[in-house]
Amino acid sequence: MTRSIVLGTLMAAGAFSLAVSGSQAPPSPEVKVVEVEKLKDNLFVLKGGGGNTAVFVGSKGVVVVDTKNPGWGQPILDKIKELTTKPVTTIINTHTHADHVSGNVEFPATVDIVTQENTKTNMQKMAPATGNPAPANVFQASGGKGMPTRTFKDRLTLDKDADRIDLYYFGRGHTNGDAFVVFPALRVMHAGDIFARKGPPLLDANNGGSGVAIGDTLAGAAAGIKGVDSVITGHSTVMTWNDLKEYASFNKDFLAWVQAQMKAGKSVEAAAAEYKIPEKYAGYTNNPDRVKLNVGVIYDELKR
Ligand SMILES: [Zn+2]
Repeated sequence: MTRSIVLGTLMAAGAFSLAVSGSQAPPSPEVKVVEVEKLKDNLFVLKGGGGNTAVFVGSKGVVVVDTKNPGWGQPILDKIKELTTKPVTTIINTHTHADHVSGNVEFPATVDIVTQENTKTNMQKMAPATGNPAPANVFQASGGKGMPTRTFKDRLTLDKDADRIDLYYFGRGHTNGDAFVVFPALRVMHAGDIFARKGPPLLDANNGGSGVAIGDTLAGAAAGIKGVDSVITGHSTVMTWNDLKEYASFNKDFLAWVQAQMKAGKSVEAAAAEYKIPEKYAGYTNNPDRVKLNVGVIYDELKR
């Protein structure tokens, strides 16, 4: 009995090491696993490989919100084929970041690509996000394939009735082109990275983001958009409308705290080292490196 367990374990270990070391392929192409979370009969969140992707199956075709890192477009398309026989007609990108837009280039050239107008401008440059290395510019490599084909400034409605999608822009925040994507019939919204998770946001000043504006922008969305219960976040779980309102307050409180630090004459480093998530924000996770970047971004904005 004992012997057979040991033997079995050894065999399993041997098979595993063979799988790892026996491959002739170079080590880089990892298995791309796309996980599906079903929110509604015709709305899914695809996880893995970058930001959360929403897949909305309309009566005529599929709308995809955000397309993950380079190389993840095809895995998204493969997964959609398991969910529906309808073709992808439209991509919406919530903002410019490489982990939300790069898969665009792997979709058919017939697919419409919709973004806020500043996001299109940002995608032409693909500048590194504040505090991050330069991303691969997949659009340059593709000769422009995957770039937005349609933009909006403040608001745009796509289609109607059960297929209706409302796009909103409420001002600067994570970048200067953050779109809120609402599926009114389902009472669900994709917020992208202006609400990525319960914690300090990435304030990407290089792409127009603002720590002075982000709280107001989130509050503007919370007040200006009606009829939503569930919020798909950029990188975390699905949250409630109250979570979105709370996140607006979290960012306003952070700004007020930074303003007080600056008034007290503290350096960015000294201020950031003292920051703690206020106790009322239960379930929030701190990110000290990001807090330091964010204090710096806000100091720069306040000095102007
Ligand atoms: Zn982002």
